Parts: sequence; C-alpha cells; structure tokens
Amino acid sequence: MKRIALFPGSFDPITKGHEDIVRRALPLYDEIIVALGANSSKKYMYGLEKRMEWIENTFADCDKIKVIFYEGLTIECCKEQGAQFILRGLRNSNDYEYEKSIAMMNQSMAPNIETVYLNTRPECSAISSTIIRDIIKNQGDAKPFLASGVQL
Ligand code: ADP
Repeated sequence: MKRIALFPGSFDPITKGHEDIVRRALPLYDEIIVALGANSSKKYMYGLEKRMEWIENTFADCDKIKVIFYEGLTIECCKEQGAQFILRGLRNSNDYEYEKSIAMMNQSMAPNIETVYLNTRPECSAISSTIIRDIIKNQGDAKPFLASGVQL
C-alpha cells in the first residue's frame, strides 16, 4: 500500500520552515499531499490561488508532492485522499501543546490515521507566517524566511 501523508495548513504564506518539514519527510512517504485548508473564521492576507501557486512553485521539482485545497475536517480529507498519516511541524512547546490536543481528538475520531511530527531545524524555529506577514506589511525584507517558490 502506498504510504501517503497529508501536510495541512493555511500557508499564508508558505515559509522556509514549512518547506523544510515537507522535504525532510519525503524519504518517509511515497506521496506527500500539501493540503491548503480553509478556515472560515480566519482572515487571510493572501488569496487561495496565490497561496496555492506559491506551494506548487516551491515543490515543482518533486513529483511525489501534490497540492490540494480542502474544507472541513482534516481527517475527512485524509480519508478522501487515502492518507494514513498527518504530518505536522513542531517549533516549540506551544506548538506541541496545541498539536497534541488536535492529534488526540483526531485519533479518537479516526484511530487509523496517525499524526507524525518532525521537529523544525534550529534556523527555522523562529519563522512563522504571522511574523512574515508583519514584516511584509511594514515593508521589510521577508525573502530569507519564505519558501523557495514565493514571489512577492
Ligand atoms: P495552521 O494554520 O494549521 O497552524 P500553518 O500554515 O501555520 O498552519 O502551519 C502548518 C504546519 O507547519 C503546522 O504543523 C506548523 O506547526 C508547522 N510549521 C509552521 N512554521 C514552521 C516552522 N518554521 N518550522 C517547522 N514547522 C512549522
């Protein structure tokens, strides 16, 4: 059976940290699906098409990576896509606490889907889409923190 992992997120915009997690996870899976999730209560800085284009550009060199958009529960998206794993990245203990609660709820709703974490590399641990958006809004240079396929 093909080993498929779903990497869900809002990627507003996709960062070096996101890219690093996906690339490091590649040897573990046959396919990684980067899943752009819509959260109706969140307001995004960049539109769906832009965010999707940047993710596709970032991973254009890799045919094991697919990019999709989804609405609703992540576990339902996993079932539709045939993904047995949810991939997440951890930067610090806040990420861990937050991710743990979601993973436990997902585990009880879908016992066959495992959440797998990779720790960020130290040089990416301070990178967040939120801080990047602030830098951009204030005309700073965010390029060093953005994924390779982002063109502002
Ligand atoms: P969400 O809206 O679900 O928090 P994000 O787009 O912010 O989505 O992040 C998606 C995933 O990437 C999450 O698991 C998050 O912890 C992880 N992540 C975000 N930034 C980094 C980083 N700099 N290094 C490693 N993982 C990261």
